[in-house]
Amino acid sequence: MNKNNDDQALCGLSQEQLDAHWMPYSGNREFKKDPRLIVSAKGNYYTSADGRKIFDGLSGLWTCGAGHSRPEIIEAVSRQVKELDYSPAFQYGHPKSFELAHRITELMPEGLNRVFFTGSGSESVETALKVARAYWRKKGQASKTRFIGRVKGYHGVNWGGVSVGGIVGNRALYGQGIDAVHLPHTMLPENLFSKGMPETGAHLADELEAMLALHDASNIAAVIVEPLAGSAGVIPPPVGYLKRLREICDKHNILLIFDEVITGFGRMGSNTGAEEFGVVPDMMTIAKQLTNGVIPMGAMVAKQEIYDTFMEAGGAEYMLELPHGYTYSAHPVACAAGLASLDILAQDKLVERVKTVSPQFQEMLHSLKGTKYVSDIRNYGLAGALTIESAPGEPALRPFQIAMKCWEKGFYVRCGGDTIQLGLPFTVENAEIDNVINALGESINELA
Ligand code: PLP
Repeated sequence: MNKNNDDQALCGLSQEQLDAHWMPYSGNREFKKDPRLIVSAKGNYYTSADGRKIFDGLSGLWTCGAGHSRPEIIEAVSRQVKELDYSPAFQYGHPKSFELAHRITELMPEGLNRVFFTGSGSESVETALKVARAYWRKKGQASKTRFIGRVKGYHGVNWGGVSVGGIVGNRALYGQGIDAVHLPHTMLPENLFSKGMPETGAHLADELEAMLALHDASNIAAVIVEPLAGSAGVIPPPVGYLKRLREICDKHNILLIFDEVITGFGRMGSNTGAEEFGVVPDMMTIAKQLTNGVIPMGAMVAKQEIYDTFMEAGGAEYMLELPHGYTYSAHPVACAAGLASLDILAQDKLVERVKTVSPQFQEMLHSLKGTKYVSDIRNYGLAGALTIESAPGEPALRPFQIAMKCWEKGFYVRCGGDTIQLGLPFTVENAEIDNVINALGESINELA
C-alpha cells in the first residue's frame, strides 16, 4: 500500500481482505495499492474513508438521480423487509410487483405496457434478446435469429449483451458470442462540440438498409440501440436518426429494442429517451434509476402484441409460456424501492428539473472547449462527456489521471475509454454544476 496506509483510510481492512474481492472491470491492482473507499452517502455527496466530502458527478453509476439515502426509500425498504422479505417469482406473486409494473407502464410511451422484471440492466438486455428470438419462432419465422447492434454500443456484460455491444475492449477476450453484426456509431467529425443532438448523421441509419440487404431481413430478429449511447461517452443521436431506424425496422419486419438502462426515468429530462426523441420501440430495457440504485433491479418492457404472442401457448393454463426468469425477478424489496423511487421523481418533479437545469450544465460543459487535450464535448439532459486526446508528439494524458485528480479535489467523475463522463444528480444545484465543471477543467490544466 502507498499513501493511504493509515487505518482510517483503509477502514481497518487487511491486505488479505482487499485481495479477496475480485472487483468488477479493471483497476484491481491499482486500487488495492491505494484504495479509494467510500463509507457513506447523503444527497449529492459521498464521504470517503479519509473523511472528505466528495460530490457525486455520475449519480453513482447513472443510478442515484434523486440523490443518496432518500428517507422515503429507506422507509419503504425497511417496511418491506419486515413485512415480506422474499416471495417466489413465479406461480405465486406479491401485490407490489403488479403495482410497480403498472406504474412503469404509466411512464412508458403508449403501447409499451407489459413489464418483465429482472435483477439488472444486463439481465434486461438478455431478456429482450431471448424474447425477440422466441417471438419470431412463435410466429413461424425461426430463421430470424441474428441481431444488429452498434459500434460503441453498451448492453451489459452477459453473452447476448456483449455480442450486440460494440465497445472494443469488452469483447476481445471472450471470442464467439451470439450472432450479431453492428451498425456504425454516429460520431461524425463535422459534429464535434455539438450541443445536444448533432444536426447531421440521420443518413447513418440507412446503413441498416444495406445491412439488411446483405444479411436478409428473414434472418434478423431485432436491432438494439441505446437512444443515447452512455458508456461509450454520451453520444446523443443525430436529429432524425432514431426515426429512420424505426421506419426501416417497420418496413422489413424487424423488432426495434431501445436499451434505456441509463436514459430511463429522467436523465434526458423526459421519462424515457423514446418519449424525448419521439420514437417508440417494440421493447425497452430499463434498470439503474428504477430503484434510485438502492436495490438491484431491471425490467424489459414489451408491446402487448409481443406478450400476447406468448400467452397464445397451447396446453393447460398452468404451463410455462416463456421458459425464462430469475430467482430475484420482481423481488419484493426491490419493488418497494422502485415504487418509492418513482414517487420521489413525481413528487419532487425531478424529471422536469433536469430540463430546467440542463441548459446551465450544457453551457458550463462547453466552456471547456479550447482546454488542452479536450477534442470533443457532448451532452444531453444531465449527461455529458469530454473526449480526451493527445496531439501527435504530446505526452499522453489518460482520462484515468483526470478522474483521480478530480477525486483528490473532492469530485467523483467517470473515466471510460477515451472519455470523462458526467451524469449529474437530478437534484444538482446551480453552484454544484459550476463547481464540478470548474474542478474538471482545473484538473486537466494542472495535469497538462
Ligand atoms: N445497458 C446499458 C445501456 C447500460 O448502460 C448498462 C450499464 O451501464 C447495462 C445495459 C448493464 O446494466 P447492469 O450493469 O445493471 O447489468
